[in-house]
Amino acid sequence: MTVEALQNIVVIGASGAGHSLVNELAGKLPETHRILLIERNEFVVHMPTIVRAAVVPGWEDKNLLARITQDTIFPAGSRHRVLTNTVTALSPSSRTLTLAHPFEGSTELSYDRVVVATGAAQALPMRPAPGSSLDEYKAVLRRMQADIKAATSVLIVGGGTVGVEVAGEITAAYPGKKVTIVHGEPALLHAGERRKEQPDPKEYVAPPTAPRLSASLEDQLKKRGVELVYEDRVDAGADGKELHTGPLGQLTRLPLASGGSVEADYVFLSIGNAPNSSLVADVDPSAVTRSGHIAVDAHFHILSSKLENAYALGDVASVPGWKTLVNAIAEGPALAKIIDAEIRGKTPAAYSVPASSYSSLVTLGPGGGAGVIALPFIGEVGAPGFVSSMKNADFFASRAFYSRFRGAESVPTTL
Ligand SMILES: Cc1cc2nc3c(=O)[nH]c(=O)nc-3n(C[C@H](O)[C@H](O)[C@H](O)COP(=O)(O)OP(=O)(O)OC[C@H]3O[C@@H](n4cnc5c(N)ncnc54)[C@H](O)[C@@H]3O)c2cc1C
Repeated sequence: MTVEALQNIVVIGASGAGHSLVNELAGKLPETHRILLIERNEFVVHMPTIVRAAVVPGWEDKNLLARITQDTIFPAGSRHRVLTNTVTALSPSSRTLTLAHPFEGSTELSYDRVVVATGAAQALPMRPAPGSSLDEYKAVLRRMQADIKAATSVLIVGGGTVGVEVAGEITAAYPGKKVTIVHGEPALLHAGERRKEQPDPKEYVAPPTAPRLSASLEDQLKKRGVELVYEDRVDAGADGKELHTGPLGQLTRLPLASGGSVEADYVFLSIGNAPNSSLVADVDPSAVTRSGHIAVDAHFHILSSKLENAYALGDVASVPGWKTLVNAIAEGPALAKIIDAEIRGKTPAAYSVPASSYSSLVTLGPGGGAGVIALPFIGEVGAPGFVSSMKNADFFASRAFYSRFRGAESVPTTL
C-alpha cells in the first residue's frame, strides 16, 4: 500500500500516555492504517526520578531520559513512524493538523483519528522545556544539584507529592540542611476522604490523598528537622516580584500571607502544573474544563461537537483519578482497544479507573517514605516496606519506563 493511501492515526506526545497507547495499538491496526507518533522533544523523561536527579549528582546520567526515535520505538521495517516535530494547530473541519516542520513534503498532515497526549507543563527542572535537547536538560539538573548543595536554607513552595519528595531527597543527601515547606492546605499532600462518585467530565477534580499518608510523611520530615508551615502561602520573591525556582544570592526573608516570614537562600517552586490543552482550546474552548483539562467521556472521546475521531488521555485529559504516570500507562492500552474496536465497527467497552490506581507511594530519599495500597472493596491499607523500597531503588523505571521501549534499538538500563 502506498504511503498516500494509508490512513493516519496521529498521536501527539510520546511520554507515558502516548507511548503506551502506541505500543498496544501498533500490532492491532489493519494494514490500511499507520501510526504517526509526534513528539516535540528529542527525548522523554521518567518523571518520578527527577526529584532525585535534581538533588543527587550523577542521577541525571542514569538513563532516565531516553531518546525518542524511530528505532527506539518501532521494530525495523515498521510502517508506523516517529516524528520529532511539534503540532501547532488542529483543523478538525478538514481533519488535518499543522506541524512546525514539514513531514513527507508538507506541514499539513491529514488524519483519520487524532489522539492528544500532550501532558502538562511545569516550570524547570520538573519537566523539560519544549524543544530542549537532552544535554540542555541534564545541564539544568546539574545546576539545581549544585545550587542545593551550596544553599544553607531551602524554601519549598507547595507540599504536594513533588515538594515532599524533594524535601526528602535534600534531607537525605544533606542531613542538617535547613528545609521549610510552605503548603496552602492543613496537611501535606491533598488529604481528605475519597468520595465514591466519579466527577463530571466537564469538571475535573483531583481525588484527595489518604490522611494516614500525610501523617506518616509529616512525622518523618519533622524528625529530619524540616519545618512545615500549613495554610499559608509565600507572597512574593525577595524583590517583590514573581517567585522562581533557583538561588536568591543570599539569605533573604520572604513574606508569608499570614504576616510571618521564612528565611531562605534557595527557593524550589512545586506548584503550577498546567495541562497542555491549548491545541483543543483553540478549536473549542468549551471542550476544556475550568482546571484546563480536555473534557473526555469514558471512551476518551473529546467532548466537542467540533472534533470528531479525536481522543485525549493522560495528564491533559479529564479522565477521573490522579494525574500520574501509573494512570497514564493504564489508559494507553485501554484507548488502543477502543480505537481498534471503533475502526472495526464494533462497540468498545467504556474505561473505568481501576481501584489500584488510588495507591500512592511517596519517597523521602533512599531510606524513607510512605505509601498506601488501594484494594477493591477493602480500601486503602499501608504499603509494606518492601513495596516502598521498590520505588526507592529505581522509581519503577524498569517496569514503567525502559519496558516501554520495544524498538529495534534497545534503551540501555544503567540503574
Ligand atoms: C517531578 C515529577 C514527579 C512525578 N512522580 C510521579 C510518581 O512518582 N508516580 C507517578 O505515577 N507519577 C508521577 N508523576 C506524574 C507523571 O510523570 C505524569 O502523570 C505522566 O508523565 C503523564 O504522562 P503523559 O504522557 O500524560 O504526559 P507527559 O509526561 O507530560 O508527556 C507529554 C508529552 O507530550 C509532548 N508534547 C506536548 N505538546 C506537544 C505538541 N504540541 N507536539 C508534540 N509533542 C508535544 C511533551 O513534550 C511530552 O513529552 C510525576 C511528575 C513530575 C513532574
